[in-house]
This record gives sequence, C-alpha cells and structure tokens, in this order.
Amino acid sequence: MSRKYCTSLSILAVVFSLRAVGFPADRLKSERPAPRPEGSRLDQPAGSPSSFHTCALDERVPSSEGAARQRRVRRHIVVVVWDGMRPDFVSEQNTPALWKLSREGVTFRNHHAVYPSATIVNGTALVTGVYPSKNGIIANHVYRPDIDLNHAIDVEIPAVVKKGDELSGGKYISVPTIAELVQRAGGRTVIATAKTVGLLLDRQIRNRSSDSNGPASPLGEGERMKVRGSITRDNGEAQTLTLPSPLRRERRTNSESETKIDSQGAKNSVTLFAGKSLPAEILPWITETLGPFPPSHLQQNLWTTKALTDFFWKDGLPVLSILWLGEPDLTQHESAPGTSAALAAIKSADENLAAVLAALDQRDARGTTDMFVVSDHGFSTIERSIDLRKILNDAGFVAKTEFESQPESGEIMLAGNGGSVLFYVVGHDEKLIHRLVEFLQQSDFTGVIFTKEPMEGTFTLEQAKMDRPEPDHRPDVVMSFRWNDSKNQFGIPGMIDADWQRGAGKGTHATLSCFDMHNMLIAAGPDFRRGQTDDLATGNIDLAPTILRILAMTPPHQMNGRVLFEAVANLNPATAGPKAESKTTEATKDFRSGTWRQSLKISRVGSTIYLDEGNGTFTPK
Ligand SMILES: [Zn+2]
Ligand SMILES: [Zn+2]
Repeated sequence: MSRKYCTSLSILAVVFSLRAVGFPADRLKSERPAPRPEGSRLDQPAGSPSSFHTCALDERVPSSEGAARQRRVRRHIVVVVWDGMRPDFVSEQNTPALWKLSREGVTFRNHHAVYPSATIVNGTALVTGVYPSKNGIIANHVYRPDIDLNHAIDVEIPAVVKKGDELSGGKYISVPTIAELVQRAGGRTVIATAKTVGLLLDRQIRNRSSDSNGPASPLGEGERMKVRGSITRDNGEAQTLTLPSPLRRERRTNSESETKIDSQGAKNSVTLFAGKSLPAEILPWITETLGPFPPSHLQQNLWTTKALTDFFWKDGLPVLSILWLGEPDLTQHESAPGTSAALAAIKSADENLAAVLAALDQRDARGTTDMFVVSDHGFSTIERSIDLRKILNDAGFVAKTEFESQPESGEIMLAGNGGSVLFYVVGHDEKLIHRLVEFLQQSDFTGVIFTKEPMEGTFTLEQAKMDRPEPDHRPDVVMSFRWNDSKNQFGIPGMIDADWQRGAGKGTHATLSCFDMHNMLIAAGPDFRRGQTDDLATGNIDLAPTILRILAMTPPHQMNGRVLFEAVANLNPATAGPKAESKTTEATKDFRSGTWRQSLKISRVGSTIYLDEGNGTFTPK
C-alpha cells in the first residue's frame, strides 16, 4: 500500500456513488446469492417498535409478533480481531484461511480506525459504535488526576476501570457495549482476548450475574457468584458441564441458582482477558486443561482461541463471540512490519482463524454465523524516536511523564501513546498552552495538533472526536507525529516519528498516518454478499450498529457508526448504496521564521465521519 493508494481510495469515494466507486461489474454479481436469512433484519429500517426483541437471540418470539415469526431463528456473530494487522498483508500466501474467507464474503478496502489509532481506543469504539469522545476512552494512556494524581494511567487496567466506574456511577465507558446489550436481551456472549483490552469489551459481568442491584463497580471484590454451574445451549436448553470444575461444585450446592441460570443464557456470559476472567471462578476450569496463561505471544493466542472453541463453545454457540488475538501487533512492535517474525505472527493469527472456522464447521454453524475479521488499527515503522520530555525541558518547559509530588501550576504532563502524545498543562494557563503549541508547530516532528480551545494553526479536539464533555478529562493539546510513505528496510511503506517509548527501526502506531488509520475488515456469512469488495469508507465504529442490526436489535443510544448496508446480501447496490464525500481541512500559522501548515482529510457517509489521514509541515522562509 502506498501513500497514493491511501489517498486515492478516499478521493474516489468522495464523488461517486457506490456503483461508480469501482465495483467491477463481475464483482457485483454474487457467486452464489445467500438465501434471505431467517431472523435477520439487516435490510429493514431500524427503530421500529418491535426491533428490540430477542427473535434473533435464539429465544421464542412473543406470540403477539404473529405466527409467521414463531419459528425459532438463529444467528451467531463471531468477531475475530487481529491486533495491528495491516490490510496490505492479507494475501493467499500470508493468510490462506483469511484469503479464502474473503472470497466467500466482503473485503472492505477503505476501512478506518478511530483516532488515536491505538488498541484500547479502537476496541472500545468497536463494541460501542461511538467515537472516543462519546464512549470516554480517548487514548490508551491518559492523565486523569481524579484517578491518579501523579501518573498517566493505562485506561484498561482493572484498578483504573474500577475507580473510573466508582467516580462516574458505572459510566467509565459512557454507553453500554454490544456484549452488554446482547445480554440484556437474553443472549449469551463470550469475550476472549489475549490482550488486556477484553476487560473494556464487557466489564459488567459480575454486576449482572450477582443478583445485586448494587455496587457501581463491576469489579467489586468479596462477592461470591451466586449463579453459575451450567452452560445453556444456544437453543435455550440447559446443559450440565461434564468437567470437574469450581462451577460444577458450586452448582451442586445451589439448586435455586441453577434454575435461574437455566432460563437465562445471558448469565453464562464470560469475559476472558489476558489470562484473567470475569467471573473469576471460570478461570480454574480452563487452566485445569489448558494450563496457565502462557508467557509467549503466540502461545497466548493459541490458549485464548482454545478457551473459546474448546470450552466456551463446548455446549453451544453464544449469540456473540469476540476473539482478540494479540498478533501481529506485539511482534511488529518488537521487530517491524514485514520482518520474518512479523510474517510468522500473521501466519499464526491465520491458523487461529482457521481453528475458529473449523470449530464452526464441526458444529455445522457456518450457515447461521456472520464472521467479522477485523484489525483495530494499522501499523508503521519508527523513523525517529522523539524524546519529547527532554526536548521540551531543554526549551524551557517543565515537562514530565510523572509527578513526584503534588503537581504544580505550569508543569506539563505528557501521556505518550506511541504515535501520538497528549499534553496536560497543570492550571491550563492560556499563554503557556500557546507557547507549547507554537513550539510544536515549529518543530520537525509534529504532524497534526488538536487543542481544547480553538487556536491558530490547530484543529480542535472535536475534529479529532476526542472532546469529552468533562473538561477535566480533556487534554489541553494532542499531537500526532509526522509521517511519510517511504519504505522500511523490508520494503513496507509507512514511516513515522514516535514517542520515547520505542527506538527507531521498531514498529508502532497511533498517528494520523494513513498506514495507521487504515485497517482490515473482512465480513462473511449468511447476511453478507459473496466474493465482493467494498470501497466505500467504513470504520470500526460501524461494527456495533451492523451487528445489532443483524440481531434485530435497536441500540438504546444513537451510534456514530452506520449499518454497512452496501455489503448486505440481497440488496441492490444501485439503490441501497450510500454515497460518500470527502474533504480536506487545513490550518496554518505564520511565524517570522516560516509557515506552519497542517491538514486533515475526512470521509463522510451519511452522518458518519471517518478520519482518513492528517499531517503537517513547517516551511522556513
Ligand atoms: Zn492494537
Ligand atoms: Zn500496538
């Protein structure tokens, strides 16, 4: 993928309708039209009063819905995330299982991460369908003095999540995730992630399962799970576990609970994240057979995949499964995109996908399962590692990555996110913020600057979709590092400057580079067209609304993402295809010594906005 490729796709999408964007005529023909899926409501308008029911959740449709809909309907959703997978690495040779799946479904060729193009931010966007500004997770590392006065925090670690929920009445993530929504509608969900991100995909399990109206914190300790002990089949019939396990032991002592669980599949839902589980009692059941969560990345992915297919799918498929593989992200960080180790990591992700597909085949479930294989973001190679703290301190600022004591007015906390940095100015002194911004504008490493308050030569946090309603949660300045489309030593285009955490030559992401912002999505299953490509702008925020629509559920809140109608089976793209437009915004500032210029390119489909790329440069006089 070259820079030209990055831009040309969006330019094409600007003006033309879906048909004109370049679906070759032969590609528009489905190889084999999928039958109208029973229970799917993808081609019906959302929001009708009967939309939010459980007909697609393997429950009986209420009799008032009419006899025609009394039949049992089935739909399963399986999302497999390949962390950090660039779309240009998908090939018959690199990813044979994914390649084959793409022939059976739709390849989205203009797919977008949300900014910053980082894991936790995009994981949360994937399951909420809203921008970071609306769900609350605006970066992987932020400074929240109400949570930790002295350090920037990792937003997904359990202690932070617990505190965040306590402070916000359970709204650390401001809207429910699709896992939570499916469970509220009575469906079972399984989140299995090799990385820590899983906690944010469904952190509320303990609350819902504990029969308690209470504590705001979903991670409250000391509660024993009251209801566990059998797994419910996806058709609603209870299955008793045959494995000796803590669950089984508990079930024997609590027959009252057993009755409850048998009638509510949602209560068998689970979150498995980086070798931990919610509820915690589940974990020994897995480690008894699979052993402890292993230390190596590849083994961790294998372990997590097996936990999903061999344990959580053992007695039937849940309505929603999300498997998050940590590769190729981790290996690309340690080496770079395109190394033999990174290619091997991609191959291993493909093998895990193949295992998932085989498990579905074994259950004869491919005909009822819609698969989404997606990456959270793209990837780049680090051209220069920028020690911003030193650079700023040398220039007379007081910049810190931690406060040893009470923060003092005028000090600046830097929250490094790899390809982007968030700046928090203690006391928010306007003159100091201006001086900081002007310094960044005249540097040789700045790409795009976003500011809390409008400022000459910057964009606002609103344009980055990072403007939280709580003023204290907003950084004063956000900077995406500069990037270019030159190639690394393995011939892979996309070089960026990045923060101090990794050295030149290694890999990272989180900038507004098109190589970070464009990621992979392939969808296949009964609700999707076969053997097609979609060049319309799409994004991670579109998965949640699309999945809910497949499940005939109307979200309780307005989502920023859109339903991917153009990829849906049995719709005529000439009539159903939405149109895209794109626009580039510029901001400049003149200095005595030269001119700062930054740009941001966005695509819009309906009311959904996708950030394509952004960059900047200082031109001396
Ligand atoms: Zn990631
Ligand atoms: Zn990463």
